Amino acid sequence: MARRSSGMDMNGNIAALLRDFAAIQKSKQSMWGYKRAAAAILALEEPIESFIKPDGTLRKIPNIGPSSTRVILEVLQTGSSPTIERAISGSGQAPDIERRRDLRDHFLSRAQVLAALRNVTLEGPRLEDYHGDLQMHSTWSDGSQTLEDIVQAGIARGYTFCAVTDHSYGLKIAGGVSMAELAQQHRDIDRLNKKHRGTFRLLKGIEANIRADGSVDMEPDELATLELVVAAPHSALRSAADQTVRMVNTVKTHGVHILGHPRGRKLGSRPGVSADWDQVFTAATRANVAIEIDGDPSRQDIDYDLARRAVAAGCLFALDSDAHSTAELQYAETAIAHARLGGVPTDRIINCWPLDRLLEWLAERRG
Ligand SMILES: [Zn+2]
Repeated sequence: MARRSSGMDMNGNIAALLRDFAAIQKSKQSMWGYKRAAAAILALEEPIESFIKPDGTLRKIPNIGPSSTRVILEVLQTGSSPTIERAISGSGQAPDIERRRDLRDHFLSRAQVLAALRNVTLEGPRLEDYHGDLQMHSTWSDGSQTLEDIVQAGIARGYTFCAVTDHSYGLKIAGGVSMAELAQQHRDIDRLNKKHRGTFRLLKGIEANIRADGSVDMEPDELATLELVVAAPHSALRSAADQTVRMVNTVKTHGVHILGHPRGRKLGSRPGVSADWDQVFTAATRANVAIEIDGDPSRQDIDYDLARRAVAAGCLFALDSDAHSTAELQYAETAIAHARLGGVPTDRIINCWPLDRLLEWLAERRG
């Protein structure tokens, strides 16, 4: 079956095939088995080719069972998987699989992320230029990390700040925080900031939800209680209709600092918002709103390709993990890799500014 290139490496291609295979399984158990195997391949730090032993078999990889191993060897030896292609043809789900395959452009495997971070020929931000992460979720909404966990994990990663951006009350499905809860959270943040003064600063943020008309689901006086507002789309992410006006309205909304995961795409599952992104980026530059590169491996939103266009439009950038646990803070590296591949100048990345400059910019946008 002919397929356009996704820009992914062998790890990405094999993981994608395993996800296709998972999608057509009849039993839940085997579906999860192949999904787990796909995730394991996508998370490998080295190219899968380096796992081949001299006798042609594969070194043991956690979460990869015998049937996934057979598929992997098949792809490594022949460049494709007749086993999976046959199963897809016989499943009656070929059109659906084909649709999923169109939703993988410009995603990076973990091995590609690490290669981009190591590649000295790329300009753009290095890990050590990155001072803090500006989108993450805590136990106050749908995250598993406490505020204290975030501080400790941030310090361990060499950061000087992080923004807690739990979901706004409009997004009930993600445990959105009420204004009363936010006030309580802010008291906790003040206490932690006092404790870690001079070492680490936790910023009071929110991930506000973008409505159909582009406005956000919080009132101006509510936004004013926050130091940082990420506005992100969580609806109409499968619609092919043009949503340029919606996104332009969002970046023009007073109090918004960052346009978070601008497309709202999900790997192999949904395309996200369709818009004239050059227009959106130009509007963001005019409004002095930063465009996010969300590093969640299943999002990678925007990717290096769109980032290049945002650079041309003069945008500022925020590179964030969108972590829901401390282990996921590592996702910031995916965002940094996209910025390097997209040629984003370090000075245009608000996470790479010293804390004072960042605070000044945040206050200016609020004022
Ligand atoms: Zn979100």
